[in-house]
Amino acid sequence: ELSSTRSFTVVMLGDPGVGKTALAGIFAGVTDNLNIDTELFEEEVCERTVLVDGENTAVTLVDSTCYSLEEAISGVSCVDAFLLVYSITDRASFDRAAELRIQIRQTDDHANTPIILVGNKCDLVRCREVPISEARVCAVVFDCKLVETSALMQHNVWLLFDGVVRQLRLRGNSS
Ligand code: GDP
Repeated sequence: ELSSTRSFTVVMLGDPGVGKTALAGIFAGVTDNLNIDTELFEEEVCERTVLVDGENTAVTLVDSTCYSLEEAISGVSCVDAFLLVYSITDRASFDRAAELRIQIRQTDDHANTPIILVGNKCDLVRCREVPISEARVCAVVFDCKLVETSALMQHNVWLLFDGVVRQLRLRGNSS
């Protein structure tokens, strides 16, 4: 079946320190390593098959350390979705995600590419700088989904990745 052999490429962007490497580590299956301070892998790209709703889908996750959007997507032939990661404890990273979203929409290729706003470190409730209500409003304005995750607690991380797969499957079927 065609749909099961399709591969999706998801590019993760966001300020340094927001937890992109930690999220990518969970995606890559490095779940036994609880010390997420260490570099989990040298590669910035991880491809794996994920089983969602009884169907396998190949997903390539690009953990971009590049600061600019152009640099981040220059080597990627086709981007199916963007994850804009910020830390709920760092307002500047939230502002950066908003900036990136504008830049993405300004490109010709990605005027309609799905964007998922990812508020990571939601375990750090006492250090929260970005209220979820504000992030929700932002997601409505941006016309994108919002997920708050904790890579540390492995909370909502697979909800995020499975959700992306579901969203891209629906999109593929409707176009
Ligand atoms: P990156 O620069 O975006 O790749 O961020 P990293 O994945 O390297 O994470 C930066 C720091 O935040 C590290 O010290 C991680 O241990 C920590 N970190 C990542 N995700 C979480 C999280 O969900 N909760 C908490 N409390 N710390 C996290």
